[in-house]
Amino acid sequence: MDIEAFRKAGYQAIDRICDYYYSLEQRSVASQVRPGYLKELIPDNAPEEGEDFQQIADDYQRCIVPGLTHWQHPSFFAYYPTACTFEGILADLYATSATNPGFNWACSPACTELESIVMDWAAKLFGLGDHFLNSAEVGGGVIQTTASDSGLVAIVAARSLYTSKHPEAKLEDMIIYTTTQTHSLGVKAGLVLGLECRALEVMPEDKYALRGETLKRAIQEDVGRGKHPFVLVATVGTTSSGAIDHLGEIGEVAKSYPSLWIHVDAAWAGITLACPEYREVAQLDNINKYADSFCTNFHKWGLVNFDASTLWVRNRKHLTDALDITPEFLRTKEGDAGVVIDYRNWHLALGRRFRSLKIWFVLRSYGAEGFRRHIRQGIELNKHFVSLLRSSSDFSLVTEPSFALSVFRLMPPSIVSTEIDKEKLEATLNDLNKDYYSRLSGRNDIALTQTKMNGTFCIRFAIGAARTKKVHVDHAWQILQEEAQATLSAWGK
Ligand code: PLP
Repeated sequence: MDIEAFRKAGYQAIDRICDYYYSLEQRSVASQVRPGYLKELIPDNAPEEGEDFQQIADDYQRCIVPGLTHWQHPSFFAYYPTACTFEGILADLYATSATNPGFNWACSPACTELESIVMDWAAKLFGLGDHFLNSAEVGGGVIQTTASDSGLVAIVAARSLYTSKHPEAKLEDMIIYTTTQTHSLGVKAGLVLGLECRALEVMPEDKYALRGETLKRAIQEDVGRGKHPFVLVATVGTTSSGAIDHLGEIGEVAKSYPSLWIHVDAAWAGITLACPEYREVAQLDNINKYADSFCTNFHKWGLVNFDASTLWVRNRKHLTDALDITPEFLRTKEGDAGVVIDYRNWHLALGRRFRSLKIWFVLRSYGAEGFRRHIRQGIELNKHFVSLLRSSSDFSLVTEPSFALSVFRLMPPSIVSTEIDKEKLEATLNDLNKDYYSRLSGRNDIALTQTKMNGTFCIRFAIGAARTKKVHVDHAWQILQEEAQATLSAWGK
């Protein structure tokens, strides 16, 4: 493709993307294709001769779009949102047009310097302490691919720091702490690093949040049997229910065990720190006081298209000590002089995408106030959803709503009043809600996800897609009621 053909195809692509967004609301939220559908549409081998690009672009519409689940659909309430904006799309286009793997400052100074500046913008937007700022040159911020990568990088740094202070620690005795509600990233890091991961218990009466006492007991127990707990992955806004671990209590416990690295995973909820009124509940002070590393994803609720996971560390040396491998061919005079950041030493891979551009575009175009408006709107819509849910005696919240997430289940009086055995009632409610969820997931005009909390099967309703408005929440509520009635009728209730 030459430059003029690219110009023509590019205009068409933008036109088609605009048409896609105009048509989004009329589309099924979840893709309706069956497994293996694409094999019937695409040949088994790449073509020997190049094909006409128009045909390729048309095949994107014909073969690929039907197999997409539309995460930008305003009725997408599943998982957590991945709110995408046109500013972010354009930034990615520019970034791709320059394609460079900016691993050293010298590879493309603009990439490193923009990342370093934008991470400080974001840190200040969230109220993070000065010790996390790149400009302070002690800690600093770096963009990772995902929160799982951010967690893994933090754990690698924690391990390296711990073994440097405790050379006697054997890898088989080192323990990563998570909770039963932590995202699977903790277990996966253990798997990748060959380390034990211990999930600490959390209780429904604590809203599924980790207490300091639980951590203290675990540390005493593990240290007592010669183990080396070296990192805790605490969460602000767990995946299942948005629970917020008690960072103040955790931090106090960690004071007696200073080698324990505290990584705070706020992949979804961290973005709320942009709004001063949510900083207390999202525990900003404790993050600033106790976290050795902190991560939030702009690519979830933060209006930046996937991927953009922002990670800050209290001490950048802990990252670079763990990850700096510099063969001759990667040396530069600026790196040798220590006057620049070489981000290759702050993450696992060598090459890296130019992700700061999209955060820069979005933050400039929305402004801090526009960004906050988006967060506040999601939380307000969730309050509205909760009031609808509470207006019906058939529904019950499984735990307190968290920011823009509600976790609920069907709990109709017609069943609750007839079953006195608590265990049997819970089993019945689980079966009922599985049936209910199976109806909901069969619909194409809404997307939700299920979860299980300490054995209770429940349904998550996560607001935050960039185009979701009250009308979509009202429509969702109508569907939830319709399917509830259908489920209860099928159960003869
Ligand atoms: N942490 C939390 C609390 C999450 O909710 C999620 C995903 O929903 C993740 C981590 C994983 O995010 P990523 O896909 O960026 O690894």
